[in-house]
Amino acid sequence: MRVKAGKAVFQAPERNQVARPVSRPKWLYKAAGFVYKLSKQRCGGSLYFRPKNLDDAISVLSSSGGQILAGGTDFYPALGERLPQGDVVDITAVREIRGVSTEERYFRIGGLTTWTDVVRAPLPHCFDGLKAAAREIGSVQIQNCGTVAGNLCNASPAADSVPALLVLDAEVELVSTGGARRLPLAQFITGNRRTQIRGDEVLTAVLVPHQSESAASAFLKLGARKYLVISISMVAVILESNSSGCVSQARVAVGSCSAVARRLFDLEKDLLGQPADPQIGSLVGPQHLATLSPIDDIRATAEYRRDASVTLVRRALQACVGRT
Ligand SMILES: Cc1cc2nc3c(=O)[nH]c(=O)nc-3n(C[C@H](O)[C@H](O)[C@H](O)COP(=O)(O)OP(=O)(O)OC[C@H]3O[C@@H](n4cnc5c(N)ncnc54)[C@H](O)[C@@H]3O)c2cc1C
Repeated sequence: MRVKAGKAVFQAPERNQVARPVSRPKWLYKAAGFVYKLSKQRCGGSLYFRPKNLDDAISVLSSSGGQILAGGTDFYPALGERLPQGDVVDITAVREIRGVSTEERYFRIGGLTTWTDVVRAPLPHCFDGLKAAAREIGSVQIQNCGTVAGNLCNASPAADSVPALLVLDAEVELVSTGGARRLPLAQFITGNRRTQIRGDEVLTAVLVPHQSESAASAFLKLGARKYLVISISMVAVILESNSSGCVSQARVAVGSCSAVARRLFDLEKDLLGQPADPQIGSLVGPQHLATLSPIDDIRATAEYRRDASVTLVRRALQACVGRT
């Protein structure tokens, strides 16, 4: 089967083979600015694609079986000293999936939106926690390159955006040549570095429903130092109160304390109807974090993570009080 992608034509690969351009001289690909064949010696014949729109990206992805490259801030460290195995589909020129927009039912955060873009986007208060998480992702340089989709697809237990997006009830949009589908973020990430994305799909957007827009939100991260650090624990909270000053809506999630960040549904229920005052933190007990399964590792013991997370949840709730 021949697949047309932009100005280049590709032969769809047989099983275990890479896609190869057919009947076009190499200069044409260079001229098209679309695909460059990397040195065979150094890259084992891998192809590098840089499609300019989503249609081309998904068609080349489906024909080449290549791996997506966005900001590269997880992609390259994961390679270490190795070269990429198989083809690489660099999606950084697919501008249509970058940026934040408002639709009738959702806020749409394009998959290629960088963390700096998120920080700069005009968004309601309920996104303050997500913005705070964005500011804590690596360094400014990392935030300038690293993307929302990259953080979610890499699915690290320490991915800072996940708790902040879980409390926003975010969904992900996945697009392939077969069409588009949506999944709640809570179902999309299934384990440590495991997601439901298929090899031919692009995560095109994160969709946040219009709800609790005036609610206060907070994100707190604990690391071994202040800057450029992997989380020992992180907590995101959304809190809304009614005209009597009582909690009408609460959503709380904790990351880095289980393979996948988790919502604390029992705590959320216990908070409903309680006074939204500075004592709110005292309602949080260790039992509310029983669903977490922290591990001992080089950064902290499981016991320390549990203990620190209780404190972070209390502080994040207190930070929201008075702002709802
Ligand atoms: C020094 C340093 C510090 C860091 N600090 C933090 C931190 O504090 N907190 C944190 O959470 N992370 C941190 N990271 C990790 C990283 O910066 C983020 O996870 C970032 O958001 C990844 O985005 P990216 O665009 O660079 O992804 P890439 O590296 O380009 O891709 C990551 C993975 O996602 C896939 N992918 C990317 N985009 C898509 C898409 N649209 N559709 C489908 N699959 C896709 C790629 O195939 C790859 O498997 C750090 C990284 C570095 C190098």
